[in-house]
Amino acid sequence: MLDGLGREIRYLRISVTDRCNLRCRYCMPAEGVEWVDHSAILTYEQLTRLAGLFAALGVEKIRLTGGEPLVRKGLDRLVGSLKAVPGIRRVYLTTNGLLLAQQLPGLLEAGLDGVNLSLDTLDRVQYQALTRRDELDSALAGLEAALAVPGLTVKVNCVPAGENDGQLVPLAELARDRDLAVRFIELMPIGLGSSLPRRTEKEVLDILEAAFGPALPCPQEAGGGPGRYVTFAGFRGRVGFISAVSHQFCASCNRVRLTAAGFLKTCLQYDCGVDLKALLDGGADDAALTAAIRLAIAQKPEGHHFGQAPTRRDEGRNMNQIGG
Ligand code: SAM
Ligand code: SF4
Repeated sequence: MLDGLGREIRYLRISVTDRCNLRCRYCMPAEGVEWVDHSAILTYEQLTRLAGLFAALGVEKIRLTGGEPLVRKGLDRLVGSLKAVPGIRRVYLTTNGLLLAQQLPGLLEAGLDGVNLSLDTLDRVQYQALTRRDELDSALAGLEAALAVPGLTVKVNCVPAGENDGQLVPLAELARDRDLAVRFIELMPIGLGSSLPRRTEKEVLDILEAAFGPALPCPQEAGGGPGRYVTFAGFRGRVGFISAVSHQFCASCNRVRLTAAGFLKTCLQYDCGVDLKALLDGGADDAALTAAIRLAIAQKPEGHHFGQAPTRRDEGRNMNQIGG
């Protein structure tokens, strides 16, 4: 469906849990957070029912995220149910990769179409400092498992935030040696991300060009996502940039988000949308749910205002609740 500004909404990101087995410094405090109670999280049955309503409104692509989606039991069951929803063409996963090697066979059998794996450094000591867990080997095992699957779309996502400057070149080298996309995602000033240094697309590109020579044009994403891709001489894969701050892409935004607690968020930066869990708990039928979704999407904000004065509607959740 079209939102109030004529943008076509085709993409739903679902956070299946706020829980996580890492504590990335831009996402969760070291001491953790109070987890949302299990009873406050949408069940797989509720998520599948909502996916059917979104699909009827034109959503074709779903991404499962979190928290860490693989810490929620039986995620392959959800992938299978979502893939069976008429109209849902692709189901993807965003993960830190720690549990991926074990769970990938089941997820593939259920029909998973691709994996984005978050990795901010290849240095073990730094990984432990950035994520507060000594788990680099598990993350890399997950990446290798995904790369070994023929035809699976695999992307590595890195958030450059100062401390990992020295790792941007080694991370990009993954795309030199393997046929995958390594993407640099500008840190967004949301939750804990507000207090860390951000590296802009230009700063990262300068570092990469100093190492690999001039960036070269390459095929862009089918479907026109926010990633802008380049490659370098001798690279098998691509390097992408998702730069919400320095290259705002709100005018072409095609997505909405469902938090683990069932709130439909229509813009990353604002706490606006509708509490679908409350409606489900109140016994709303499909027509009422669809009407609520339509209204929220019609009111999707025009864009973020990162870098400007805060507003009353600014998001108070941390990224582990929103899903990134
Ligand atoms: N746990 C999974 C993971 O790390 O891939 C999925 C959830 S995580 C919230 C999704 C993505 O959001 C990760 O790639 C993470 O790096 C990114 N992220 C978290 N906080 C961010 C921020 N303030 N700005 C930009 N990206 C952020
Ligand atoms: Fe967990 Fe992902 Fe947040 Fe890191 S970015 S703490 S892995 S939810």
